[in-house]
Amino acid sequence: MEKVVIIGSGCAGWTAALYTARANLNPRLLTGAQPGGLLTTTSIVENYPGFPEGIDGTELMMRMQKQAERFGARTDYGVNITRVDFSSRPFKVWADDELIETQTVIIAVGASHRHLGLKSEDLLERKGVTYCATCDGALPMFRNQPLIVVGGGDSACEEATYLTHFGSKVYLVHRRDELRASKIMADRVLKNPKIEPVWDTVVEDILDPKQDKVTGVVLRNLKTKATRELPAAGVFVAIGHVPSTKLFKGQIEMDADGYILCKKGTYTSVSGVFAAGDCVDRTYRQAITAAGTGCAAAIDAERFLGHHA
Ligand code: NAP
Repeated sequence: MEKVVIIGSGCAGWTAALYTARANLNPRLLTGAQPGGLLTTTSIVENYPGFPEGIDGTELMMRMQKQAERFGARTDYGVNITRVDFSSRPFKVWADDELIETQTVIIAVGASHRHLGLKSEDLLERKGVTYCATCDGALPMFRNQPLIVVGGGDSACEEATYLTHFGSKVYLVHRRDELRASKIMADRVLKNPKIEPVWDTVVEDILDPKQDKVTGVVLRNLKTKATRELPAAGVFVAIGHVPSTKLFKGQIEMDADGYILCKKGTYTSVSGVFAAGDCVDRTYRQAITAAGTGCAAAIDAERFLGHHA
């Protein structure tokens, strides 16, 4: 019987592991399919306090893990969690073939990339369509080629800037005429001579599934309704995220978009199940806020166990 099982290994998960380990709760953290979470797909994190020169996203996650494990957190890598049952305590979590029983659960599963929803997008994924410039930008197929980034937030700006190191030109396709990104990121993009913003425009189709690779896109201007083709070797989709909470559907309360609803602090609708990080937060979604709520979930779990042991 576990005292605390933490599901997810981003900033929220590792911080929850650190705090519950230091509270002698001997936490067991299940990493999920993408250990380290979304931050491992980013390049330099410049806004995590304590790192004035910035820190590589993967490095930050590895440091958090090391810190949690130093105090006794246990890690299960890459386990596939197929089912949970929160109907009564102890809670049940099926990880690969193992049934884990636990007194509390901290859900810190984060979010995954939102897709455009085009059929051609699915057909050409990994054939020129990607959701991670840091992971794929340096691939030979993108070198010295025109590239397209879709989105207007910090992620899109970060990806566009990064891709200027590889592509001949980067088009930033955004559905409005103003970026959502923070001012510093937006300024960097708008001042970069290799990036051309394409305003008020959406990607209507990605070419060319028949050739089994990306050769361009069909763009539609939302104001003029005009469509045109733009040649490109890669489409980098950076239009936000969706919470990775399907596993918990029907077990705890969520909103219509799948964000977990917390009542007081990190308490979910099931007493003894706590949630933290991007799977709860549709407002801030920062590494530091995820770490903060991971800490809060650990403290909530510790107090809960103090009352319900
Ligand atoms: P975001 O801030 O939610 O931005 C998503 C962008 O995609 C918006 O510009 C949105 O357009 C556009 N979009 C959404 N759905 C679309 C669709 N179906 N078709 C076309 N465009 C669509 O997401 P994000 O950029 O991934 O950032 C998420 C969070 O992480 C933010 O809080 C951000 O500050 C943070 N972040 C920080 C850094 C950093 O500081 N280094 C880096 C990356 C991310 P509208 O603007 O019209 O809504």
